[in-house]
Amino acid sequence: MLKDMFSKKKKRYATIPSERAKIEVPEGLMTKCPSCRTIMYTKDLKKNLSVCRTCGHHHRMGAWERIEALIDEGTFQEIDADVIGGNPLAFPDYEKKLEADRKKTGLNEACVSGVGELNGHPVVLAVMDPQFRMASMGAAVGEKLTRAIEKAIELKHPLIIVAASGGARMQEGMISLMQMAKTSAALEKLDRTGGLFISVMTHPTTGGVSASFASLGDYNFAEPKALVGFAGRRIIEQTIREELPEDFQTAEFLLEHGQLDRVIPRLEMKDTLTTVLAIHQ
Ligand SMILES: [Zn+2]
Repeated sequence: MLKDMFSKKKKRYATIPSERAKIEVPEGLMTKCPSCRTIMYTKDLKKNLSVCRTCGHHHRMGAWERIEALIDEGTFQEIDADVIGGNPLAFPDYEKKLEADRKKTGLNEACVSGVGELNGHPVVLAVMDPQFRMASMGAAVGEKLTRAIEKAIELKHPLIIVAASGGARMQEGMISLMQMAKTSAALEKLDRTGGLFISVMTHPTTGGVSASFASLGDYNFAEPKALVGFAGRRIIEQTIREELPEDFQTAEFLLEHGQLDRVIPRLEMKDTLTTVLAIHQ
């Protein structure tokens, strides 16, 4: 119809323009839940292990925050804190980026590892931190994980790795990809000595990390709605020329298809791990 051509376009109102929300919410003091948009005290959110009290959304968690949530107070001893990455391929500006992330996170690299107790059970724990280079697996991360695995073999302690990763560290090219084989080979050794490995995948665990050690657990667990997968949705859709289901690559989807043993809410994680450790004691 002719009159339709002149009808006014419906105005669309965004709920809160994110730019304005940023200005109104003092940084650090308040956090806005990306899922339900509730604005809450950051302190209160952290008290609840960074799980939204309104909708249950699992916010991103730093490595030390995670260690605090899992390990008994005063029992954690960090290992290999001095293992740091270089710039093996002389990739432009890579050192600057590493330095900036070190300053931002207070971490040397995207992984913190150590020995501690989980409800009284001695464990070796390695945690990846997505705030550092998206926890991509460069040589230093691969080395720290491998040493953690070897430590578990040496001490005969169960090993828990909390994975999160954007995948390979692109600035380290082939050297980054080699870490997949290196960590997997170390886990094979752990397996042969009868060691226990529990893999906990958090949002997001993708690329070479999901395709190597993170999927090799005696138990493979994930947090609710965590994105776990190898290649991105768009690449797969373009390759197979098919539309993928909405929940593709979520923890729940993988559980349903037999690739995970359980999806465990963060607030139940420590208790569930305790049960598993007690069974294998
Ligand atoms: Zn929420």
